[in-house]
Amino acid sequence: MDHSPTMVNTASYQEIKKLTAERNVTLVAVSKFKPVEDIQALYDLGHRDFGENFVQELTMKYEALPKDIRWHFIGHLQSNKVKYIAPFIHLIHGVDSEKLLAEINKQGAKTSRQIECLLQVHIAMEETKFGFDEDEVLTLLTQINSGEAAYPNVLVSGLMGMASFTPDENIVGAEFKKLFTLFTSLQAKYASLNVLSMGMSGDYKLAIQEGSNMVRIGSLIFGNR
Ligand SMILES: *Cc1c(COP(=O)(O)O)cnc(C)c1O
Repeated sequence: MDHSPTMVNTASYQEIKKLTAERNVTLVAVSKFKPVEDIQALYDLGHRDFGENFVQELTMKYEALPKDIRWHFIGHLQSNKVKYIAPFIHLIHGVDSEKLLAEINKQGAKTSRQIECLLQVHIAMEETKFGFDEDEVLTLLTQINSGEAAYPNVLVSGLMGMASFTPDENIVGAEFKKLFTLFTSLQAKYASLNVLSMGMSGDYKLAIQEGSNMVRIGSLIFGNR
């Protein structure tokens, strides 16, 4: 049976792929709400990093698709759902509470894995966006690295942030700059931090300019949702 034709914008993908590869930026293709055929089409072009926002959708796609895909969880993760993705998840981007970190650690232990995570930092003006503030990130990393808070089955490898939803590039750029500054100052202290996940379809060029090394791009590759 043929795959049904997909809406994947391969020209746009190749353009983004070229730019990110030149800059050593990891491209996470965000496939939420898109069918497995679209993911398979990009996989067939050699792509391996895919991002999803919902646990049930992700586990369904994980079952259906090749096992060498690196799945990124980029949504808001509820503690009671960590167990469903713990056995296979490559990177959890949006860790925004110690409760969640503790649960990821617990499920990592159960599956004998050290699960890689990014701490989500609140950089946007909007109140609704999840994440730690800068002081909370500092405190948490100090506790983890001093052993005061032990999460042996979690590896905190970096930070993630989302800029304000505004066309004003000055605002977005300043928010990315702020996160990059925090990232570099923490990196100087903690060698395990090497991922800075920031930038989506609308602002990825700006994010890379401001120091991002991982972008999460959906609609430019897969079309509107
Ligand atoms: C959906 C989503 C993206 C991708 O958004 P696009 O604008 O389609 O590129 C990136 N990051 C997060 C956290 C998302 O929820």
